[in-house]
Formats: sequence, C-alpha cells, structure tokens
Amino acid sequence: MKFSGKNVLITGASRGIGAQIAKTLANMGLKVWINYRSKPEIADALQAEIEQNGGKAAVIKFDATDEDEFIKGINLIVDSDGELSYLVNNAGITNDKLALRMKTSEFTDVINANLTSAFIGCREALKVMSKKRFGAVVNVASIVGEMGNAGQVNYSASKGGLIAMSKSFAKEGASRNIRFNSVTPGFIETDMTHGLSDEVKKTYSDNIPLKRFGSASEVAEAVAFLLSDHASYVTGETLKINGGLYM
Ligand code: NAP
Repeated sequence: MKFSGKNVLITGASRGIGAQIAKTLANMGLKVWINYRSKPEIADALQAEIEQNGGKAAVIKFDATDEDEFIKGINLIVDSDGELSYLVNNAGITNDKLALRMKTSEFTDVINANLTSAFIGCREALKVMSKKRFGAVVNVASIVGEMGNAGQVNYSASKGGLIAMSKSFAKEGASRNIRFNSVTPGFIETDMTHGLSDEVKKTYSDNIPLKRFGSASEVAEAVAFLLSDHASYVTGETLKINGGLYM
C-alpha cells in the first residue's frame, strides 16, 4: 500500500482488531501509535513485537471517552512527530441485554464508548489534519449498525450512528482533502466474540455465505486500503467485511 502521511493513531489497539490494524499498518511503513486504556504490558509487548519486525511504534495511554485525555494524546503525537495523518477509531465495547431490561445508563455508556469517543477523535483529527490539508480517518463500526441485532439496541445505535457520522464528517472534511470512511465487520474472531458458545458460533457461521467468522487481519487489510493513497477518491464509504452476511 502507498501512504503519503507518516503517523497513525489507533484507539483501543492493545488487543483484538486494533492490535492487528497496528501490526498491518506498521508492516506497510507507517509509525503506529498504539492507544490503550488499561493493561500497559500488552501494549508494550505489541510495540516490542512491531519494532522487532523493523516497524515503528509508540504506546499512548488514554481513555477514548475522556475528551481532555484524547485531545492531549493527539497533541502529544503532533508535538513529537510534527504530524498526524491517519486515525482509526477502533475502541469499542458491548453490553448486551434485551431492551426491556436495559437501564438507560447501560445504553448511554455504550454510546459514549463507541460513538462519542469517535466524535471527539474525528473532530480533533479534522483540526490537526486541516493544517496540512491532508488526512484520512477510518471508523470501525459494525454489521450490527446496518442490520440491528436483538440484545444490542445500545451497540447497534452506537454503530449505526458511527456510520452516519462518518458520512457527515466526510462532507465537512472533503474541502480540506481529509477523508472519512467506516468499515462494518461482521463476526470476527476476537475476545469480543470468544464468549459465544460453539453452538451459537455454528448457528451464525451457517448463515454466513462464506461459512466462517472473519479474522482481525481481514479487517485490518480493509482499513489499510481506506487509509492509503489507493483510496484517495473514496470518502463517506461504508466497507462491509462480513463474509456476505449482509449485502
Ligand atoms: P476487543 O477484543 O474487545 O478489544 C476492544 C479494544 O477496545 C480493547 O483494546 C479495549 O481496551 C479498547 N477500548 C474499549 N473502550 C476503550 C476506551 N474507552 N478507551 C480506549 N480503549 C478502549 O474488541 P474487538 O473485537 O477487537 O473490536 C474492535 C472494534 O471492532 C470495536 O469497535 C468493535 O465494536 C468492532 N467490531 C468487532 C467485531 C467482532 O466480531 N469482534 C465485529 C464488528 C465490529 P481494554 O483492553 O482496556 O478493554
């Protein structure tokens, strides 16, 4: 892949899809800023692994729902390296429950973690990228934001909002040459889906045209494409990575 920028910040990157995005982008020559909010040992180990493979990486601690911390994090990158060309809003949580039993706080907590955090990231990225009139952001949404899911009214609202928000940011960023896109993974093998029983996994897999869950690296490759110069005319797009489960 070809990239005109140098630095990328990936939120929630110490494990799962975020960690794989970091490895993939580092392999492609970007300096990756690995954001984590807990477990520094995992983030440090990922940085060491990337550096051993000849890549450039740094760890950066903040909770993506904390506006002040997020802004400080972005400023630290720009102060240190002079630019931030790419952002991947990947941090996300679930808190599944049928709507009738869901407390309002259980709804808003997921909205804050998945949508409000990404809003802060997109807005701050737009500010710093505007100075160079160049940049790209990918928001990691979900198939559930496109098709809904029982037990996930909070999660689906956050991810559906993320898809719509990316398009609005794309319209605001276009005149400054800053692109905003989202990806909508289906079922991907990570800690988020490891809790599903084998029976549930088999039921889901049977319904997926490609008959399997996806891997984090299959998501990472799509994110890399959307950030790269190869996607220079792609903005406001929602790229499905779901094995055909939702077309
Ligand atoms: P995961 O294994 O549960 O990892 C989530 C990551 O996000 C963790 O590193 C977590 O940090 C971090 N995080 C959560 N809240 C944060 C916050 N406020 N600030 C900073 N970091 C935070 O999940 P995953 O499967 O890799 O999911 C990554 C993204 O893909 C999420 O947005 C998820 O919704 C989306 N997605 C996943 C799937 C799937 O099937 N796995 C499908 C569609 C979309 P801690 O270690 O501190 O908890």
